[in-house]
Amino acid sequence: MTETIIGIDLGTTNSEVAIYQYGRAVVLEDNHSCIIPSYVGLDDKGKIIVGEEAKNQYQVYPERTIKSIKRKMGLDEKIVMGTEQYLPQELSAIILRKLKSIAENHLNCQVSKAVITVPAYFPDAQRQATREAGEIAGLEVVKVINEPTAAALSYKTENQSDRRVLIYDLGGGTFDVSVVQIEGGVVEVVASHGNNHLGGDDFDHQITAAIIEHLKTEHDYSGTLSNQALARIEQAAENAKKALSDNPFALIAEEYLCEIQGVPVNLNMELAREDYEEMIRPYIEETLEAVHTALKSADLAASHIDEVLLVGGSTRIPLVARRLEEKFGFSPRCDMNPDLCVATGAAMQAAMIKGEDVHATLVDITPYTFGTRAYYEKEDGPYPYYFVPIIKKNTPVPVRKSDVFYTMYDDQQEVEIGIYQGENEDVRENVKIGEFMIRGLSKAAANNEIITTFELDKNGILHVTSKEKKTGLQKKITIDNAMSQFAEEELSAARDRISNLFAGDVDEFGAEDGRQMSAAVESVKAMAIVEKAESLFESAAPDDCEDMIALIEAIREADIAGDKAALSTAVDELSEIIFFLES
Ligand code: AMP
Repeated sequence: MTETIIGIDLGTTNSEVAIYQYGRAVVLEDNHSCIIPSYVGLDDKGKIIVGEEAKNQYQVYPERTIKSIKRKMGLDEKIVMGTEQYLPQELSAIILRKLKSIAENHLNCQVSKAVITVPAYFPDAQRQATREAGEIAGLEVVKVINEPTAAALSYKTENQSDRRVLIYDLGGGTFDVSVVQIEGGVVEVVASHGNNHLGGDDFDHQITAAIIEHLKTEHDYSGTLSNQALARIEQAAENAKKALSDNPFALIAEEYLCEIQGVPVNLNMELAREDYEEMIRPYIEETLEAVHTALKSADLAASHIDEVLLVGGSTRIPLVARRLEEKFGFSPRCDMNPDLCVATGAAMQAAMIKGEDVHATLVDITPYTFGTRAYYEKEDGPYPYYFVPIIKKNTPVPVRKSDVFYTMYDDQQEVEIGIYQGENEDVRENVKIGEFMIRGLSKAAANNEIITTFELDKNGILHVTSKEKKTGLQKKITIDNAMSQFAEEELSAARDRISNLFAGDVDEFGAEDGRQMSAAVESVKAMAIVEKAESLFESAAPDDCEDMIALIEAIREADIAGDKAALSTAVDELSEIIFFLES
């Protein structure tokens, strides 16, 4: 077997390493996380530390911890860490060595070649410095590719047509926007623009400032906080920011944060998504101005763009997708993990260099939107059938999202929660998949807050919980098979539609329709088994993976050819392997 070439996203805030194996790109984990903070430091014994460990000591020992070294790449500048001076390439090489060793541990063999990504705007000196960092780390850099190119590769779909794509990349410390042209599978960056000092860190600072303000007013505090207390506040701010991407409120609680006049102070503060979005709105508007500039320099208007792809952890903030949708008139694609898609694309490029046939990346996503019903004040009066999406179509699973709803009148004691699948703004056009009542709400004025949470796992099991925020009173239900249920519903609706079309001709057409529909059911079932098998690739032995890949291919071929017997045999064999792997 030829040597694996690893794909590396060497980021300002975080880095990742990925490989292409068994027909899919996988980002490798270290200590249960794929995301390696781009921090390098010396511990108290002078030993080099990298990643999470170095990040954790940054606030307390900034003199022996380095972050954001990527900003210095290509500069002839020495950086002091502890008692020594280092070139930016050397510090980057320390991160690369860590990524190399993660891959070696995973593959159980030495790794010596890599594809590394860099921002599209990196000039030659910075690209050269990246190559040198690779060499210092013992890696031959077989190719340096642009981050937007890697992202576009990882968002690749089967039957990829030629198109113009805008890549919006909002990370921890930088924002980049690129317009790329995809023609005959070749990705070309047409224009790019950005801001090297705009990203998630700015949002953390906004929340940190709000927390300090809260401490000052609540506890009449005017002194300066210790480094330790500040570090805890900054971490709490980042956690709250992440929580607000999925929840309407975040509770920021830190016990014994500091002492004020000898009295221990506990931090307890609630932040609403709405207030947080107002804090960061100016930054998001700045990114949209950069989008405008990039389009202008490519001589294009928003209407010329076919797709918007989201890259970078900060694009999980719902305001980002909302504003982009307002600008472009369609939703940006979010079906890849925005933290990992650059690394995934680098691994795909690495596999292509080796001459492998690279398919679209397979990720588990929900094929339907799930949401609930709410009243909505339209211009012509109240509209009781408004569909509020909570988990949107094409979101990677597992996923958990919450939203807040309000009671309509004073002393409202109960609320009916309807759960729907579908894409229509009117719930009556969607499929109802469940409902429940939450009863015994406290006597309160209208606008009592009810938080509804949807949690969908990889097996299509949907848990829905509604909670009265004030009292914690809650009710929940579980819907098994939420993802396939719609397929069945859809099929039965299609069956009805077709029988209606041929009403009166049952003898002539009924039997044939029945056969076609039952073939469709078989096909849906087969695809569910294929998906199940694909989810086991990572944990299965190489021999089993090979058998599964062959059977998946046989299933696809039989499905296309409409060969029911071959389909059924291959499905049975694949089910047997799955049964064996799971037992
Ligand atoms: P990157 O540079 O792409 O690795 O992105 C890192 C940034 O994404 C950091 O500022 C993180 O705090 C931020 N981030 C990660 N997850 C989330 C999330 N769920 N919501 C908002 N920001 C996030």
